[in-house]
Amino acid sequence: METVLEGLAPDGGLFMPESYPQLNLGRLRLLGYPQIATCIIHAFADDISISDARALATRTYTAQVFGTKQITPVQKLDEGIYLLHLSNGPTLAFKDVALQLLGSLMQYVLEKQGRTLNILGATSGDTGSAAEYAVRGKSGMNIVMLSPYGRMSAFQRRQMLTLNEPNIHNLSVNGTFDDCQAVVKAVFADAEFKEQHKLGAVNSINWARIAAQVVYYVYAYLQVTTDNTQHVTFAVPSGNFGDAFAAYVAKRMGLPISIIVATNENDVLHEFFQTGTYRVRKGSDVKITSSPSMDIASASNFERLLYDCFAQDPVSRDRAPATIQDLWDELGRTGKFGVPYLLDELAVTFRSGMATDLDVLRTIGTIHRKYGIIIDPHTAVAMKVGLDFRECGDIKGPLVIAETALAAKFGDTIREALGFEAPVPIGYESLGELPEYSTRIDPDPEAVKRLIVELCV
Ligand SMILES: *Cc1c(COP(=O)(O)O)cnc(C)c1O
Repeated sequence: METVLEGLAPDGGLFMPESYPQLNLGRLRLLGYPQIATCIIHAFADDISISDARALATRTYTAQVFGTKQITPVQKLDEGIYLLHLSNGPTLAFKDVALQLLGSLMQYVLEKQGRTLNILGATSGDTGSAAEYAVRGKSGMNIVMLSPYGRMSAFQRRQMLTLNEPNIHNLSVNGTFDDCQAVVKAVFADAEFKEQHKLGAVNSINWARIAAQVVYYVYAYLQVTTDNTQHVTFAVPSGNFGDAFAAYVAKRMGLPISIIVATNENDVLHEFFQTGTYRVRKGSDVKITSSPSMDIASASNFERLLYDCFAQDPVSRDRAPATIQDLWDELGRTGKFGVPYLLDELAVTFRSGMATDLDVLRTIGTIHRKYGIIIDPHTAVAMKVGLDFRECGDIKGPLVIAETALAAKFGDTIREALGFEAPVPIGYESLGELPEYSTRIDPDPEAVKRLIVELCV
């Protein structure tokens, strides 16, 4: 339960469960999305009772919030090819699936413990708005979100700033995303202030987010199979490795799947799975691509996979934490480390590929011509890489491609690929006409602290 509020383990590493609870697929096959979510929440957090878990899941995963009763519906595109729709939540991107649950869980834990929490964060786009929609209307929580003024897409800006809620506070910073992050870091560095004003973070490394993402892999597996031994391959567009890692966790829980990790030209992960060398990029070397949510210099959840590899190997089990620390020390000194000896074991589960912006444009065009649907650039990365593997006859069983955002959010790329824009989903047409609420500030930690004191009671 504590891990809901904390991203990091006490030793500074990432929290990991002691063991993986095993799925009973026969039983889960009979259940709907909220019921599967209930089982998985309870499996990882046994201090949350099954009836509390059920209440949380059914309150969170509703047709009202996610557009359909299936929450993450699976669409058949072709014989053996499926699209897993993860982007029907309030911000039209897959991060809603995890953050909506995290918001409910946080409220639950805070209520139990009689505490309040003020969430402070910086965003350049999707995560910030998904976090705001997740705490919208929740008691015991405020959220203060810094974003770079004039540097977000119009859709993302409108989505965030049109929120007019007593517990949501948008600060538009005169500066870049890096400036916003530096300010947040400086505020968190003031331990006394952090303690006094009950500051916390919502980040991609929170374990509850991973657990919430396991649910849709299980759900999708059950949709595309008829018995519990069939093998399924998921192609996942990957940035910080949260989504692909959740698929891996599902596998460790007994789901018979393999995972294709698909990156854009910021191919830290593809390079790792090809060579066994994990090499982080300098900020200035990160390319701006048409799939911005995957433009990363390093993959923050990747440490978890390595931890698990070492924990599984009986020879290195005892040395695992020390080994991981050694690797991270080396990474800090040299910007990379190599573990090529893990590749054989990883190849049992993972494959990887990379798609360029040109691949993305072509794939959006091909998929539209062939199936009459418009996919977003992130999804196109996974589509291109997944279909390439399939064409080589390299995949057994169904291929499921994870759709992580709606095309309507990426007007320019879609217009370039198709010559017209994707239709705006129902309910979002008038977003441009609504008033926007935010406070303009300079990138100054003291100014942010003053606002926190003033806004968050
Ligand atoms: C965050 C995001 C991704 C990447 O997910 P990770 O968990 O960081 O690998 C892919 N697509 C979209 C649309 C995203 O917002």
